[in-house]
Amino acid sequence: MKIAKNTVVSVNYRLSDAQNNLIEEGSQPMVYLHGGYENTLPKIEEELDGKETGYSSTIQVEPEDAFGDYDPELVKVEDRKRLPEPLEVGMQFEGMAEGVDDEPTIFTVTDIADDKVVLDGNHPLAGMALRFDLSVIDVREATAEEIAHGHVHGAHGHHHEEMEDSEQGDHFRSQPLN
Ligand SMILES: [Zn+2]
Repeated sequence: MKIAKNTVVSVNYRLSDAQNNLIEEGSQPMVYLHGGYENTLPKIEEELDGKETGYSSTIQVEPEDAFGDYDPELVKVEDRKRLPEPLEVGMQFEGMAEGVDDEPTIFTVTDIADDKVVLDGNHPLAGMALRFDLSVIDVREATAEEIAHGHVHGAHGHHHEEMEDSEQGDHFRSQPLN
């Protein structure tokens, strides 16, 4: 069956940067609801639309079509005592960025000095061109419930009980795109 609006697509993927350095080897296929539900990047949907199981290709997605340009204004330095201990590089906190007052921003600790901490509110993949090796392994019709919810249920899909677990790992899928 062809990939079209309201089909559920299973795709093996490998994510690398524009120089082909591996960023993420998809250990499990990405399974998403096709048709503009923002379950995956629009460029991926565009590439796969109308294709079938067995189709594979490599696409490059520019930052503006992925996680945006790197914004230096989202980097800030905080007093270490304002943050919980123990503190490590790579930890993430939700906070409000100045000038962005609608949604909380996820800040990643990128550096720790004696009493100061550098927090970066950019997505880890911001500013990067991304290459996706894609290989479609299954296409099926979505259920009415999946269409109503705007996401996939079942194996590899969205689990309402353990949503937090299921949304970790696949960062290009689980982050809101706007
Ligand atoms: Zn649901």
